[in-house]
Amino acid sequence: MSERFSATIEDYLGVLYVLERDGEPIVGARLADLLGVKPPTVTNTLKRMVRDGLVTLDIAHSPHLTEQGKEAARSLVRRHMLAEWLLNRMLSWSKLHKEAHELEHAMSDEVAEALLEDLDSPEVCPHGNPLPGYEDFVSGWIPLTQAPTAQPLIVRRVHELAEDAPQVLSFLEEKGIEPSREVWVEDILDFNQTISLRVGKELVSLGFAVAQYIYVEQPHKNSSANIA
Ligand SMILES: [Zn+2]
Ligand SMILES: [Zn+2]
Repeated sequence: MSERFSATIEDYLGVLYVLERDGEPIVGARLADLLGVKPPTVTNTLKRMVRDGLVTLDIAHSPHLTEQGKEAARSLVRRHMLAEWLLNRMLSWSKLHKEAHELEHAMSDEVAEALLEDLDSPEVCPHGNPLPGYEDFVSGWIPLTQAPTAQPLIVRRVHELAEDAPQVLSFLEEKGIEPSREVWVEDILDFNQTISLRVGKELVSLGFAVAQYIYVEQPHKNSSANIA
């Protein structure tokens, strides 16, 4: 069994992993916000993580995962996503992330391995976020804020940072905006920071703050070429 850390440390590892993966700047205030704690708590926890060899701090005091930190983070993120797939059999889509967030810490390597096999090694979680090692699988998907208008698009991904907002997830679920659904972007209103999205017969208005975290794929325009 790989070395395990407390649930608190694992939560930090998960957030640091996602921010680093996406090339986002990592500052204490942002971490405090994402982890729901106060900045001094972040500072203290990061000190413990430095001591344990999980992160290093650069001259601006921004944390970076060490190799050991990355390995522990990949294990955590994988367990989280496998727990989501397990719960997907019994819970509605908008509840998976929150419940998996509890289960992930208790899952042994043996159960994680068994789930990986049972699920046939999924590339993504039920929200379309990549399991560690499958980042390339999702790299061709584009955020709705940059999507072409007036053509069919397939929803592929709701980013981890939106998964963390239960109200956003239940709104998307209620409107049917979930992976593998077809949607059309009718308008992108830059001045208003909103897009209007056609989902089935319904027109849904989304602010850029949420739309930036929803990724779509353009279906192959010439599907006959694929058959030939
Ligand atoms: Zn999740
Ligand atoms: Zn997920």
